[in-house]
Amino acid sequence: MNKIKMITPLVEMDGDEMTRIMWQFIKDELLLPFVDLKTEYYDLGLAHRDETNDQVTIDAAEATKKYGVAVKCATITPNAARVKEYNLKEMWKSPNGTIRAILDGTVFRAPILVKGIKPSVRTWTKPICIARHAYGDIYKNTEMYIDKPGKTELVFTGDDGTETRSLIHSFDGPGVIMGMHNVDKSIESFARACFNYALDQKMDLWFATKDTISKTYDHHFKDVFQEIFNAEYQSSFEKAGIEYFYTLIDDAVARVIRSEGGFVWACKNYDGDVMSDMVATAFGSLAMMTSVLVSPEGYYEYEAAHGTVQRHYYRHLEGKPTSSNSIATIFAWTGALRKRAQLDGLQELVDFADKLEGASKRTIEEGVMTGDLVALSELDHKRSVNTLELLQEIRKRLEQEL
Ligand code: NAP
Ligand code: MG
Repeated sequence: MNKIKMITPLVEMDGDEMTRIMWQFIKDELLLPFVDLKTEYYDLGLAHRDETNDQVTIDAAEATKKYGVAVKCATITPNAARVKEYNLKEMWKSPNGTIRAILDGTVFRAPILVKGIKPSVRTWTKPICIARHAYGDIYKNTEMYIDKPGKTELVFTGDDGTETRSLIHSFDGPGVIMGMHNVDKSIESFARACFNYALDQKMDLWFATKDTISKTYDHHFKDVFQEIFNAEYQSSFEKAGIEYFYTLIDDAVARVIRSEGGFVWACKNYDGDVMSDMVATAFGSLAMMTSVLVSPEGYYEYEAAHGTVQRHYYRHLEGKPTSSNSIATIFAWTGALRKRAQLDGLQELVDFADKLEGASKRTIEEGVMTGDLVALSELDHKRSVNTLELLQEIRKRLEQEL
């Protein structure tokens, strides 16, 4: 069989622990036999990040800017325990944080739906994709506990020496205050990333804030989105037959629950933090959740939403069978290959990505799945397989389809 050709390499970022093991399994079983795989490889495994003083993470992000499409394995974000475990020179920062800072993107998360695993919300038949703004608000706040009566104010001191003051509250007893901020540059790039992603996926875009109460702060988010939409996206949305829809956050929550899914839900930072956990849990499992970072310039970085599945890795090291589910990591690869193929005009590679996703879903829908899904699936006939067996079962079905 002739292998499917590629033109431009994908940026491949390898990672840690059980997902690193699955990474190689996926390449060996599902990619290398069928695709003449072209990648520029960066080893983001913790040992190599430490060796290179984390330069490899920066190089990988820069390569993503050069080539446009990357696929990333889950990586350890070091804490004190990891510094000890890996004898690190430093507590290196989160690779995802470093990459996000360089690409300046928005993260989109979407569930992979399969028959037999029903969302807790009965009406949801299509995926809901959450786009979370990842800068500012309460995540970069300043807080104060007030322990005696007194006056609290917001003060802005301009570089030109002018001062603007606004009363927060006159306390007659103890209480709390908080100051937070956002910047137009970040709100604007968030808006563009959302509009571009909705166009790319041909899905409606919903955005919601609490602008009726927060008449300056939240209202500004609403205005920025609307201005950018009107000026830059309206006609492409009409052409694509999709809609941009703004509503109040509480109205959005009610509509999301009543909806059938099938849209991108753009959320402010806190809303996205909370709602993505709710949506992911209601759809079933973290191991069935894909994640893609989209930059305002149109660079894409695909990954699974879960971490390195540390507990399974220690079992693997003891030589025991593991039940790690590689579906989200497979979909990171197919997402990246499809995007690369579309950019390079390679229909055969687009078809391959579709077929690999189809074979992965069919495997689970035919009752073959890892332990995490056996617990969720409502199929009558289901059987539990280990990490490698799942990939071999997917390969069997992929070969039938090719
Ligand atoms: P995790 O790796 O997502 O795993 C949490 C638990 O979820 C696992 O112990 C497992 O449950 C279940 N799980 C997650 N993915 C699974 C899969 N593919 N198949 C089967 N079960 C799965 O999160 P964590 O244990 O909190 O974090 C481990 C490491 O990952 C940390 O060092 C963290 O820094 C890193 N991390 C990286 C990323 C990223 O690179 N994007 C994201 C999050 C975390 P059971 O053990 O009960 O089977
Ligand atoms: Mg959270």
